[in-house]
Amino acid sequence: MFHRRQKLRFQCTGCGACCIGNPNRYYIAASRAEQDGIRTFLGVSKAWFRRRYIVKIDENTEGIRMESDGRCTFLDRANRCRVYGVRPKQCRTYPFWPEVVATRSSWQSEAKTCEGIGRGAVIPLKRIEIALKTSAD
Ligand code: SF4
Ligand code: SF4
Repeated sequence: MFHRRQKLRFQCTGCGACCIGNPNRYYIAASRAEQDGIRTFLGVSKAWFRRRYIVKIDENTEGIRMESDGRCTFLDRANRCRVYGVRPKQCRTYPFWPEVVATRSSWQSEAKTCEGIGRGAVIPLKRIEIALKTSAD
């Protein structure tokens, strides 16, 4: 993979762009355990949480809802995550996803969405590998 051949720089600016959907992205993946962690953090009932924040795509697929304007339901008006400390691994590991670090072109293409890519210090390879493993688990 590209990330083993090239040092990758990344520093999140908090712009929120990765929390806003595009035509190919309709929900944020979150396991039941991750959903429970968010629900507990928010202090709401299970029924309310599922009704308000979870979208069911099909029999086997569900996740955190994107609102009609394409924003994750937990993204506040200042573009901050309201559940940052308990956000799902899909969010915690971004942008170190296999499909993003696969090639120079995929990394550069993602930089069109994420202004943090290419900024700041070089991220240690070990940290990238841990993120990749976490995102695949
Ligand atoms: S849960 Fe938080 S970090 Fe993840 S997409 Fe939603 S607002 Fe962004
Ligand atoms: S798009 Fe990149 S820089 Fe912006 S909030 Fe997401 S990770 Fe941070």
